[in-house]
Amino acid sequence: MRVNIELSLASKAVWNSFEERFGVDIGLRKTAICFSCGPTRPRCGSARTSTYSASLARRANCSRPRRQPSTVRDSIPPFVAATYNPDDGIADPNLAVQGYPEAARKCGVDIRMKAAVTALHREVDRVVVADIRAVGADETERHEVDYVVNVAGAWAATIGEMTGVDLLIAPRRR
Ligand SMILES: Cc1cc2nc3c(=O)[nH]c(=O)nc-3n(C[C@H](O)[C@H](O)[C@H](O)COP(=O)(O)OP(=O)(O)OC[C@H]3O[C@@H](n4cnc5c(N)ncnc54)[C@H](O)[C@@H]3O)c2cc1C
Repeated sequence: MRVNIELSLASKAVWNSFEERFGVDIGLRKTAICFSCGPTRPRCGSARTSTYSASLARRANCSRPRRQPSTVRDSIPPFVAATYNPDDGIADPNLAVQGYPEAARKCGVDIRMKAAVTALHREVDRVVVADIRAVGADETERHEVDYVVNVAGAWAATIGEMTGVDLLIAPRRR
């Protein structure tokens, strides 16, 4: 999908300068990634294809071939289509995810773990109050807010509903 590609391109600058911006080394390695579709697995993007692609990329050792090309070629099952990008790579997701809250805390953000936004209250055209409930708590806490940034991922539509905003976001099996 076009939007996925645009998001990936926009995120490249963030990953490349992550340590500089957030002070966390996320172990980014430009290993190159090769995505492929085999003839017996024609549905690109399925979990099976991804696993297949990952193992294929590992076997092909795209970035640093340790085997002779002919040996590698013989060990790769036939495929009907593939993409290869030498600029692709991997990072440590745990370090990356911790980098954001660390940077946010340094800016004075109060992060509540294991707590859910249960309601948002509007006044004319903006949200003014958010109700938050910690897991296991009976009561909700009420917070006055200047802004609400909806980053609830697959659950973003539920947050949208709280303010009458219809977001076309729905979880989809990959
Ligand atoms: C199995 C799996 C493997 C993946 N592997 C990779 C990979 O290798 N590389 C890669 O780049 N991406 C991978 N992804 C995708 C990646 O995890 C997502 O793109 C990324 O996590 C999305 O981040 P996000 O912050 O938008 O949403 P999320 O990480 O989904 O965060 C949304 C958060 O909102 C919280 N939330 C929801 N409702 C509320 C509420 N009412 N109140 C408070 N909080 C709420 C949720 O608890 C959640 O913590 C993978 C995803 C899955 C499922």
